[in-house]
Amino acid sequence: MPDALTQSAPLSPLEAAQKVLRDVWGYSAFRGMQADIVEHVATGNDALVLMPTGGGKSLCYQIPALVRPGVGIVVSPLIALMRDQVDALRQLGVRAAYLNSTLDWREALEVERACERGDLDLLYVAPERLVTPRFLELLERSQIALFALDEAHCVSQWGHDFRPEYLQLSILHEKFPEVPRVALTATADAQTRTDIANRLGLTDARLFLASFDRPNITYRVVAKDQERRQLLDFLRRRPEDAGIIYCLSRGKVDAIAQYLKDQGIDALPYHAGLDPQTRHGNQERFIKGEGVVMVATVAFGMGIDKPNVRFVVHMDLPKSLEAYYQETGRGGRDGLPAEALMLYGFSDVVQLRQIVESSDSPPAFKRTERQKLEALLGFCETARCRRQTLLTYFGEEYPQPCGKCDTCFEPVQTYDGTVVAQKALSAVYRTGQRFGVGHLVDVLRGVATDKVTEKGHDRIKTFGCGTEFGKQEWHSVFRQLVAHGYLCADPEGHGGLILTDAATPVLKGQENVRLRRDPSASPGRSGGGRSSGGGSSSRPRAAVSNLSPEDDALWHALKALRLELAREQGVPPYVIFHDATLMEMVQQKPQELDELGTLPGVGARKLERYGEYFLDVILTQS
Ligand code: ADP
Ligand code: ZN
Repeated sequence: MPDALTQSAPLSPLEAAQKVLRDVWGYSAFRGMQADIVEHVATGNDALVLMPTGGGKSLCYQIPALVRPGVGIVVSPLIALMRDQVDALRQLGVRAAYLNSTLDWREALEVERACERGDLDLLYVAPERLVTPRFLELLERSQIALFALDEAHCVSQWGHDFRPEYLQLSILHEKFPEVPRVALTATADAQTRTDIANRLGLTDARLFLASFDRPNITYRVVAKDQERRQLLDFLRRRPEDAGIIYCLSRGKVDAIAQYLKDQGIDALPYHAGLDPQTRHGNQERFIKGEGVVMVATVAFGMGIDKPNVRFVVHMDLPKSLEAYYQETGRGGRDGLPAEALMLYGFSDVVQLRQIVESSDSPPAFKRTERQKLEALLGFCETARCRRQTLLTYFGEEYPQPCGKCDTCFEPVQTYDGTVVAQKALSAVYRTGQRFGVGHLVDVLRGVATDKVTEKGHDRIKTFGCGTEFGKQEWHSVFRQLVAHGYLCADPEGHGGLILTDAATPVLKGQENVRLRRDPSASPGRSGGGRSSGGGSSSRPRAAVSNLSPEDDALWHALKALRLELAREQGVPPYVIFHDATLMEMVQQKPQELDELGTLPGVGARKLERYGEYFLDVILTQS
């Protein structure tokens, strides 16, 4: 295909890129910064690209590689992903291959020969292989269009995915100074960015910094009440959607996965404690199936490129806001609506505080950990727009409330909680700073349980002074007091609460406390909160769109065809067509092949290969 390009009348690099975008990918226009980046790299310049997950980073190097003569070398640490990426490119008619440890020597030799002969447009390679003398010699013998350094944050020791081999990648610049390099990452923080530029020798490269907003993700943080019921409610509303449910521990992953299975949901567990075969099998089912729900620890995610993950649920607090952003970011890569739901409760706060306080990290490290925890808890307890809070944390201004998060759907009331806080804090104090929240709430509400009378807590001053609130509201108060740092868990971990120094001014009436009133909403009514009223429709449907019954039938028929075609070739369904493209078929109902070819995501090769099949279904169903 690059031949076709070089033969046609001379086009500018940008024009050539637009032609490839249309003909090969079937997309009508570049998104956001893509056009600038593609033009810059296709013209032979270096670039550092920071773009969120789902922002469309791949095209930023794939298209320049096709426009420029020679093969584009893509360095990626995610061996598990290379195959899917190469499969997807081959579906488009792009000559792509990969070299990593999963190939035997014969297969690897084939790929090397193809590279040398100029028979490849893109070659994916693991970093440890790239820097071997054998591979560098191969590069000397081949014509290279560009180097793309994907997941470039792996070069930074500050990041979470540090790979020592990435440090050696500066060799590329030394050996091939004339070949343009583009480094890409979805990690936004300034320190990592500087690290990438310095360590990869990209200080002169142009920086492309995109907005980190993910407009198609709806954020919800909901007070934990009965987590299983809340989760089930949420899942029942989106029965056909694929999604990820994150839990903190392996035990909980197993328990939740089993519970969902018992409820008839197609759920699978994933964590590092499963044997490799089961783990791999479950991952394959998630990627290649439709509507599978993966219950997982954070071990699951890096290396999941599935574009139609429709929701990400956190059953426990993530480690930090960065982690939350990355984990929720795995939803909605295809640009269609996706949901991020976090269930958040008292014990989560206590647990995380305890982990940070009891860690024996050096003081400077501990300070950072504490700051990260404060930011995370601040996000959970905010009455502000979640998106604004999240983006502010990443140093980005988001001008007004987003209208697509729980606090925007249902504005959170705050109130002067000084007196309430004083009652709660003095209940802690007067019972000797030894008891957990359940007992404290009984005391406040004047419930004379056996434990209360036995300890004589029915005779203290705070007994029954808090009848204005129910159990749940008091739990919310205690959670906020821990989150704000007035209370903490006892260091021995018996589950008791103790006062911190910060509590003194509150008890003395020198400091006011503002608290939020948790809305009692059930999580994740589809379409979003009251305003749309979309939640209680009779028949639950995929979150993709609200379809008429006829269109719904067509949508399912198209998905079934896609799955069948994918199974025949052993590839994930989305490499045939994305959901967004199927949805276009449903909405536009093209009557002829040419018309089908104009839909986004239907490039020349796919039209030729699959057009008839899909057209058939559209014509017979409508
Ligand atoms: P990232 O690597 O940044 O997470 P991808 O490169 O996987 O993102 O792109 C995300 C999705 O957006 C993919 O499904 C891709 O096909 C789609 N996409 C990217 N650029 C465009 C575009 N210009 N027009 C339409 N779809 C696009
Ligand atoms: Zn909002």
